[in-house]
Amino acid sequence: MRSPRVDVVLGLQWGDEGKGKVVDALAGSYPVVARFQGGPNAGHTLYYQGKKVVLHQVPSGIFHEGVYCVIGNGVVLDPEVLLREVEGLQALGIDPKEKLIVGKRAHLILPIHRWLEEVSAEGEKIGTTRRGIGPAYADRYARRGIPVAWIDEADFAQRVEALFTYHAARFPSEKPPTLSETFWKGIELLRSLPRVELTEWLLQFEAVLAEGSQGTMLDIFAGTYPYVTSSHTTVAGVIAGLSVPPQSIREVYGVIKAYTTRVGEGPFPTEVFGSEAEWLQTRGNERGSTTGRLRRCGWLDLVALQYAIQLNGVTHLALTKADVLCGLPQVKVRVGGSDTAPIYETLPGWQSLNDPAFEHFVRFIEGFVGVPVRGISTGPSREDWYERLPKAPKSLG
Ligand code: GDP
Repeated sequence: MRSPRVDVVLGLQWGDEGKGKVVDALAGSYPVVARFQGGPNAGHTLYYQGKKVVLHQVPSGIFHEGVYCVIGNGVVLDPEVLLREVEGLQALGIDPKEKLIVGKRAHLILPIHRWLEEVSAEGEKIGTTRRGIGPAYADRYARRGIPVAWIDEADFAQRVEALFTYHAARFPSEKPPTLSETFWKGIELLRSLPRVELTEWLLQFEAVLAEGSQGTMLDIFAGTYPYVTSSHTTVAGVIAGLSVPPQSIREVYGVIKAYTTRVGEGPFPTEVFGSEAEWLQTRGNERGSTTGRLRRCGWLDLVALQYAIQLNGVTHLALTKADVLCGLPQVKVRVGGSDTAPIYETLPGWQSLNDPAFEHFVRFIEGFVGVPVRGISTGPSREDWYERLPKAPKSLG
C-alpha cells in the first residue's frame, strides 16, 4: 500500500513550546507541511527577515520556497482570519496563495461561532481564546457544521443563515452578528485556493511534515479534561486530521520547553508563584501570542513528559527556551511524586548553552524518558537552532 511518509512535530506540554520555530527549522527538507488540527487559537511566532510574524491559520512552512502548506481536514478554519493572514504575508512579499492547499473536510468557523463565545460564559474558566474554535468543533460533532467543501454548493449561503438562526434563538436578548463583506471576501479567497481530498492529494508526495498546535496535555481525550482544547493534539490527530493511514507515521518530534507553561485554569503540578513565576514570565516573554495573556509558569515535569512521549510514540525531542534559564544557580525538574506532592531533582544551572551543566541537563532528560534530544533551539530567531545528533538518513519514501 502506498502512502506518504509522515513525520510529525507536536507539543508535549500545554502548548507554546515553540513548535512553529521547530517546524520552520525542519520544513526545508519536506515538500509539504500540513496543519492537522486546531484553529486560529494557535499563534505560531516566527521571525522572517528580522520581522515578527504570528501565524494563526497558515502552516509554519510558508517561508520556504517550494513547500506546499496544507490546512488539514482536522482544522477549523476562519475565512476572515485566513484573509488577514494572506494579506499580511503578501505585504512581506510572499504570496501564500501559490502554496496553500485546503482539505475539503476542514470545517468553517463562522462569525456566529465567535459570537457564541462572547454571549455565553462557557469557556471562560477553561481559558479559551474566544476565536470561535470550541463552538465550531461542537457544531462539527453535532453534525450541524459547515465543511469547506460546501462553499461550492448552490445553497451555501442558506446553510450558513440556518446555522445563524439556530444559534441566535438560544440567546434571544442578544443581537447576532451579520455576514460582513470581509467574510465573503474570505470565502472568495477560499474559492480561489485548491480544495482537495487529502488522502489522494498527499499520495503525490514522498514526505509530509505534520504540524501540531497546542500540546499533548491539552488533547480533548488525553489531556487534563475539562481544561483542554477541542481537538486531538496528539499523533492520533494526525491520522484523523490529515486522513492518512497509521503506517505512514514515522518520526515524531516532541517539542518541549526547558520549563513548563500553561494558559488558563487546570492542574499544573510544577507551577511556581510570586517572584519565581514573574522571573520566568519576564525572561521567557511568557505572554500568549494570540491573546496577550500572561502564562502560568513552572519547572519541567518529566513525569508528565513521559506520559506524553508514550502516548505519541515520540522518537526525538526538540528542546526550546533553555536560554531563558541561563544564569540560574540551580534548576529543578519533577521526577516523581503525586500531582499534589511532586518530587524534584535539583540540577546545577548554566551560564550559557555551552556550559557542561546544560549538557548534563539534556542528558538527564534523555536518561529519564529514554528518547534522544535531537534539536536544540537557542533563541527566538530562525538561526538560533542546532542539531545535536547526526541527522536521520534522508530515506524519504
Ligand atoms: P508555538 O505555538 O509552540 O509555536 O509557540 P509560540 O510561538 O506561542 O511560543 C514560542 C515563543 O518562544 C515565540 O515567541 C518564539 O519566538 C519563542 N522561542 C521559540 N524558541 C525559543 C528559544 O529557544 N528561546 C527563546 N528565548 N525564545 C524562543
